[in-house]
Amino acid sequence: MSQLGTETAFEIVNKVKALEAQGKHIVHLHIGAPDFRTPEHIVEAGRKALADGYHGYTPAKGLLPVRESVAEYCGSFHKAKVDPDDVVIVPGGKPTMFYAILMFGEPGAEILYPNPGFPIYESAIRFTGATPVPIALEESRGFSFDPEAALAQITPRTRLLILNTPANPTGGVVQKRELDKLVAGLEQHPHVAILSDEIYSRLLYDGEQHTSLLTYDSLRERTILLDGWSKTYAMTGWRMGFGVWPKSLVAQAERLQINSNSCTNAAAQMAGMAALRGPQDCVEKMRSAFDARRKLIVKELNSIPGFRCTLPKGAFYAFPNTAGTGLESRKLESLLLENGVSCLSGTSFGAFGEGFLRFSYANSEANILEGMKRVRACLQPA
Ligand code: PLP
Repeated sequence: MSQLGTETAFEIVNKVKALEAQGKHIVHLHIGAPDFRTPEHIVEAGRKALADGYHGYTPAKGLLPVRESVAEYCGSFHKAKVDPDDVVIVPGGKPTMFYAILMFGEPGAEILYPNPGFPIYESAIRFTGATPVPIALEESRGFSFDPEAALAQITPRTRLLILNTPANPTGGVVQKRELDKLVAGLEQHPHVAILSDEIYSRLLYDGEQHTSLLTYDSLRERTILLDGWSKTYAMTGWRMGFGVWPKSLVAQAERLQINSNSCTNAAAQMAGMAALRGPQDCVEKMRSAFDARRKLIVKELNSIPGFRCTLPKGAFYAFPNTAGTGLESRKLESLLLENGVSCLSGTSFGAFGEGFLRFSYANSEANILEGMKRVRACLQPA
């Protein structure tokens, strides 16, 4: 247990609550959850499912019509042919990650993961006793990585490589040409499986197109896709996610589900199906609101002394370089919280996050402006 890390975004919530209980006002820019309500037709489908008696266990992998809707969705949005039998519906994005890492991690094994990256990758890798091997994401590359450098880190002990695009915490997007190079290299390493975390794939800006790892046939037999409803449909609290597993691993994924969750909430699955099969204009509306906030927060961040922020191309996070303030990221995070703004130190996402902060812009423009005003006032006292 001493090896298990955490996701600081959840822990800072307690600090924020404690400060708010003392009467302090905090602008929340720490949590990676859309501030929108789940679209009404999805809520209604959940309500109807409860009224219709979806109260019991479902098959561990999920209800067949729901898995079929996921397969259709993968066809239209990921441009990949998916067999509903290979889909495992899970409570959120995290279980697919946890199952994949549990399957491949053990003492002596090495797992490559993005750094700075979603903190649960490194935490779960360490928990299994495997060695986490960071793939450095570089600011100068728009927080993508050098495919050759990543491939050079593969050894006979490498079991799994984790990819995340668009990425948390950087908002970075891996370009197709880089994926092509990585995939070509991985073809030479048939002992390495790939976990592709594409949970932000519907949140892209500036005309960026998503390329799913599922579209690379040469790797299909060892690619696990992680996706879900949380970010796309503002459904973080419903706990709905899915994995598309290679045929050789789907029974094991199902078994991990039986050992842990049994299945995913039945009514939530029905709501999830309505989300995938229903109108998609709600997704576009939220995306374009995030886009406007993205431009606003980046402009504001770049006007703060000591901050420098590249324009992220995906997700809903800005990841400014704050080295110019001369303060360590963790100290800066505390200082800003004391001054009424919650954000996360880049080091919450791995050692390579030192010198950066993560701001979630899943908040209103008015709150973003107020938050930025407080940051500026705190770093440049009048
Ligand atoms: N993957 C990434 C990259 C994330 O940022 C998150 C959530 O923040 C998840 C997976 C997990 O999503 P969920 O809340 O659906 O478990």
